[in-house]
Amino acid sequence: MGKKKKSGTKKAPESTTPFSDALRADPGTELAGIAPRSTPAFGGDKSDGREALDDLVAAVSDLQERLFAESVAGGTRSILLVVQGMDTSGKGGIMRHVVGAVDPQGVDITSFKAPTAEEQKHPFLWRIRKALPTAGQIGVFDRSHYEDVLVVRVHDLVPRAQWARRYGQINTFEESVADQDTTIIKVLLHISKEEQEERLAERLERPEKHWKFTPGDIDEREYWDDYAQAYQAVIDKTSTDVAPWYVVPADRKWYARLAVMTLLKEHLEALDPQWPEASFDVEQQQERLKDS
Ligand code: AMP
Ligand code: MG
Repeated sequence: MGKKKKSGTKKAPESTTPFSDALRADPGTELAGIAPRSTPAFGGDKSDGREALDDLVAAVSDLQERLFAESVAGGTRSILLVVQGMDTSGKGGIMRHVVGAVDPQGVDITSFKAPTAEEQKHPFLWRIRKALPTAGQIGVFDRSHYEDVLVVRVHDLVPRAQWARRYGQINTFEESVADQDTTIIKVLLHISKEEQEERLAERLERPEKHWKFTPGDIDEREYWDDYAQAYQAVIDKTSTDVAPWYVVPADRKWYARLAVMTLLKEHLEALDPQWPEASFDVEQQQERLKDS
């Protein structure tokens, strides 16, 4: 189980990374052993959770603006948040409620769909490289290169030997991304098959949600166990020190949003971006302004 801790585990009082510690999934962490309705590192209920999320917005916005300002002054650091999860796991809600809470000028969201004809002509990481965050940005991937070892593996979209090589290619790639001063946060939104049924039923019941539904989503449910295996392989083969996975229990939407926002905050705090010093004499400029 490695570093995996259960909710309610006592942490050292100086710990400033309770969600990162509680949700980190090192190789060997069993997905099947993590309850999708659990709320690790958080003792409150839904209304406490919503309040806690609101309270985080100001801190994350401030940190994000500092990261952006740092890059204007020549800083090279950035963040890449990778969000994976089954259909209905709440990726869209993360984009709206978490990522949407920070200044759009500092955030760059990319959604990865089935590859286009053009994308298919290139190696699988080609479209991923093009979408990496530039300095000062928080890049967000709504699905990612992991689809190339998830849906592709489950449906044999390429020969086994080809997808099997990709885990190593992904690790090498992510190492090079981290070497370029990008902090990688990989989040797996972990829902149960029962919760997915409820969410699909809701999509069918409400006309304003029909656009989110594809009949194929029901066919995919037959492959639930294959996906579970493919996700387990992802954790075992690609959770590394430079790019660890965080498994976020996601049957409670409020918890998943709070957890991802907190992961973002904890990683930004670790970067500790500072406001750049003025490149001009402030007093002199104040004098000039008065005289102008
Ligand atoms: P959605 O996120 O609901 O808009 O759906 C996007 C679809 O694109 C999902 O069914 C993914 O499995 C699919 N997809 C994303 N990346 C790939 C990929 N590399 N190969 C095949 N299908 C993909
Ligand atoms: Mg879908």
